[in-house]
Amino acid sequence: MLLTISTTYSPATDLGFLLHKHPDRLQTFKLPFGQAHVFYPDASPEKCTVALLLDIDSVGLVRRYRGQRSESFSLAEYVNDRPYVASSFMSVAIARVFGSALAGKCKERPKLIDTPLPLTAKLSTLPCRGGEHFLRHLFEPLGYTVHSEQHVLDSQFADWGKSRYFSVALEGTCRLSDLLTHLYVLIPVLDDEKHYWVDEAEIEKLLKHGEDWLIDHPEQETIVNRYLKHQRRLTRQALSQLSDTGIEIDEDKQNEEELQIEERIGFHEIRLTKTIEVIEQSGAKRVLDLGCGEGKLLRKLLAEKQFEEIVGMDVSHHNLIRVKQRLHYDRLPEKQKDRLTLFQGSLCYRDKRLEGYDAAAVIEVIEHLDSSRLSAFERVLFEYACPELIVLTTPNIEYNIKFENLPTGRFRHKDHRFEWTREEFETWSKDVSKRFGYKVTFHPIGETDDVVGSPTQMAVFIRESSE
Ligand code: SAH
Repeated sequence: MLLTISTTYSPATDLGFLLHKHPDRLQTFKLPFGQAHVFYPDASPEKCTVALLLDIDSVGLVRRYRGQRSESFSLAEYVNDRPYVASSFMSVAIARVFGSALAGKCKERPKLIDTPLPLTAKLSTLPCRGGEHFLRHLFEPLGYTVHSEQHVLDSQFADWGKSRYFSVALEGTCRLSDLLTHLYVLIPVLDDEKHYWVDEAEIEKLLKHGEDWLIDHPEQETIVNRYLKHQRRLTRQALSQLSDTGIEIDEDKQNEEELQIEERIGFHEIRLTKTIEVIEQSGAKRVLDLGCGEGKLLRKLLAEKQFEEIVGMDVSHHNLIRVKQRLHYDRLPEKQKDRLTLFQGSLCYRDKRLEGYDAAAVIEVIEHLDSSRLSAFERVLFEYACPELIVLTTPNIEYNIKFENLPTGRFRHKDHRFEWTREEFETWSKDVSKRFGYKVTFHPIGETDDVVGSPTQMAVFIRESSE
């Protein structure tokens, strides 16, 4: 059974650092059910592929697990698909062999841990109970493009039809730890089987690896149910623990709509990472996140020690509650709590609480303001709050034609009041800079198309008096 993970990030061989496995070496690891070999079929600066080859000892398995199984058909213990398919054995191998990468640890390249990388994972044979439809439903909401090929049951007997086995490739731009985590949890879910007994400890494992993305995954219930081997009591407990983390399932679908259109390509993550990078480089210590939404940027800001004072403001009280839930605010250590202030407020009214900060992020917010309120917003931010640095992003409307699921003429979100072309955004930004004494530079975010530009446009404003 073979899993490969490739990247075209430059230099691609940095994958070796993230995985703690040197691209020049073949390494073999002993596992309770066989051996795992790790090697790199490609290792150039342009493309690097790591392979995890799982060699399951099926006879050893029978001896080891004899007595724990209840199969009455004893040959099935010897003749089964387990050595040839991705299953919970693969998840165990991922955890054992790539444990540090799964946990997002890397001393040699710490910045890379949180960098979304172009990644492709290939699984040579993946059993999918629920078929291609379910396979897509699991991975597409997480931002992957799914390629799959379903195999026939037996090429000698065409009328036996298709099997439940697929060759699968998942393509996405995400952190390596996210990809490994998704594979770790979802492979056994697709297989709908586990080679070991499942108890409460399994809930903990699931929440540890899945909390961030399971809370709003559309297949949450099925994932939890299958992961816990259909044990109703455990499933109920896990689902209730998940909803304790605060996210009311099915609520606020509208808030998510824009992200769904874009997230397939991981845009939001790229946007937020770039924002943090710019603010970090400015040396800012006291930072505002204006229109903070559900707190995705706040979470990243909190993770960086450089930021001593972090403020999240949003006009929506409901969003602020969700921020608290998402960040597990009540359980944060006092030191972390002290760094974070959340309050409700509007960017269209002067607010003394916003004055005197080093930096402000206004990420995907201005397009939610009525055009008639823009001039009020300009004064509130650039004249009164006037932080030394402002990082502001907004969609580039020219790019919309590239979203297949966005009807022509529609904005990316129902609540958008406008979306700007690059020229409109640059004209507006240069005009406010001139009027309020800032210098502005522009940065395309995401892959740039020759004709329509990048999906997101970012302007970075630096107050002239602070230079
Ligand atoms: N910045 C966040 C959320 C973007 S969605 C992110 O990138 O994830 C836009 C957010 O702007 C919403 O949370 C909305 O409630 C907020 N918003 C809209 N009008 C606002 C206003 N006048 N003042 C402050 N926040 C506003």
